[in-house]
Amino acid sequence: MGAVNGSETPRRPRPGRPPSAATVREIYRRLSRRLGPLDPPRRLDPLEELILTVLSQNTSDVNRDRAYAAMRARFPTWEALAEALPAELAAAIRPGGLSNIKAPRILSILREIRDREGSLDLSWMQGASTDRVRDYLTSLPGVGPKTAACVLAFSLGRPALPVDTHVYRVARRMGFFDDRTDPAGAHAVMEALVPARLRVRMHVAMIRLGRTICRAGRPACQVCPLLDLCPTAPSVIGHRARTASTGSSPRPARARGGMRSE
Ligand code: SF4
Repeated sequence: MGAVNGSETPRRPRPGRPPSAATVREIYRRLSRRLGPLDPPRRLDPLEELILTVLSQNTSDVNRDRAYAAMRARFPTWEALAEALPAELAAAIRPGGLSNIKAPRILSILREIRDREGSLDLSWMQGASTDRVRDYLTSLPGVGPKTAACVLAFSLGRPALPVDTHVYRVARRMGFFDDRTDPAGAHAVMEALVPARLRVRMHVAMIRLGRTICRAGRPACQVCPLLDLCPTAPSVIGHRARTASTGSSPRPARARGGMRSE
């Protein structure tokens, strides 16, 4: 990944180059105007946010919240939850999907925290440095950089940018990084390119764009506010034009860093 281009004119990045600082600010400005307000989710206690984020994997917000509510109703305290049998917890969180994977993961996290801290309390994170919190969270079983960034951003109000599947897809198509950057590396790239004061809201904006316009299978580039700044758009639009003229069935264009299946 090259250094940030210092140009003051927002423009489409050249192939293999990330967007300039001016382009990043313009991306944010346009997304904010089209998709804002970009307020992040309400803040929760760090442990609550951590477990909620585990439950959010591969499901909708609605089903995540249903699973969380059912879990807390069945196990009203963290201590009771930590003592649950995996099958009991899996039954409680079934509305959130992947319950047989998430249940043992949640139990491993809680028991590891209890062993280290002597209690199920992460309130010390409020006064700890961002690096210390991130290192602690990613040392827990099954906790990766996205989950850690969610706790940092949404619970602690720190300038983190969680890279979920939507953010990854949008940012890759916008040239922040290419196919060779894995999701873990993508966090470091995004935090290097996006100013601290914009990170959490850029996360919210990219998720909204990814859900509504820059969708996985068929990005709607013609109506995208980032059209003239996006290095992937010309190949998508060119492919559609060729498809329309030949009458062949549409398939996603293979653009640089652009159309890998998610
Ligand atoms: S122009 Fe197209 S590929 Fe680029 S961000 Fe917008 S929808 Fe996605």
